[in-house]
Amino acid sequence: MSQNTDKQIHRASSVWTALEIVGDKPTLLLLESYWLGIRRFSDFCTQTGLLKTVVSDRLKKLIAVGCLQKKTYSTKPLRYEYRGTEKLLGMYPLALSMLYWEYQWGQRPEKINLQLTHKNCRNISTPIPKCLACRAPLHSRDVDWVIERVEIQDGVKPYSRRRKSNLVLKQRQIALFDEIADVIGDRWSALIIRCLFTRLNSFQAIQQDTQMATNVLSERLRLLLAKQIIAKTKQLSSRHMRYKLTQKGQDIYPVMLALMEWGSRWPTDHLDPTISLVHRPCGCRLKMRIACSACDQELLPKEVTFTLDGTSLSDTESAG
Ligand SMILES: [Zn+2]
Ligand SMILES: [Zn+2]
Repeated sequence: MSQNTDKQIHRASSVWTALEIVGDKPTLLLLESYWLGIRRFSDFCTQTGLLKTVVSDRLKKLIAVGCLQKKTYSTKPLRYEYRGTEKLLGMYPLALSMLYWEYQWGQRPEKINLQLTHKNCRNISTPIPKCLACRAPLHSRDVDWVIERVEIQDGVKPYSRRRKSNLVLKQRQIALFDEIADVIGDRWSALIIRCLFTRLNSFQAIQQDTQMATNVLSERLRLLLAKQIIAKTKQLSSRHMRYKLTQKGQDIYPVMLALMEWGSRWPTDHLDPTISLVHRPCGCRLKMRIACSACDQELLPKEVTFTLDGTSLSDTESAG
């Protein structure tokens, strides 16, 4: 294969599709607020600490991609609120897998007071990602990736550029997706992590796969090293430096899986999902379910409430 053709080959997948929408920190903060029960514009601004213009822009985008709908709740004066569609409710496993990661690796101690209650079993619950078929907890080491490559025609931009966002004005009151939003909300970082899960681990391989500018790649690798999500493996020369995921990085796996499942269910472009996963312990094609740590039933949006110091924050019964 010529070098020229090589340049036009990307590893297209549903993770990319999903990151087109959620690989953006302000969007993730809005989604976090939504799961906490927020539906109105001014409340989104207060909870996220984002600039009004940013909130307005991202809500519009979420409407445009079919995740939110604007509904009138008062005619005099005219007032709207935002309601999640089925597509947005389909992101619930993603939200829970991000929360799962925060419970394990999140840094801020004040979050300890935030609890998730499973209404069905009435227990305080921790979301546990599991294999739908055999119900074993998921570990990336147990999953085989079967990857195909697809060609992207000239002129088709596989991945849109977006401004770097540093638009959060103040600390959020309640932060569910705190550190994980920095990682998944930056699509380049998320793509690097995805490469490492698919065993592309050298600078060159990651660069070729993602088509990232080398200075951007260097910067993101530095950032991920500083967050201890990745580590360097020993190499003879720095030119051939290789990277691996630490345990903290490995635990992002359910988040990647949720992105992939959501992206393949709601494709937004012409690219077909090109990765299939096999759960080695049971031999099944992998599908994830997020189970309650107390009763092992699947956690569904309608059956979960968030409580802070014993006060209920949200009841997602009305979601959708
Ligand atoms: Zn299984
Ligand atoms: Zn339960």
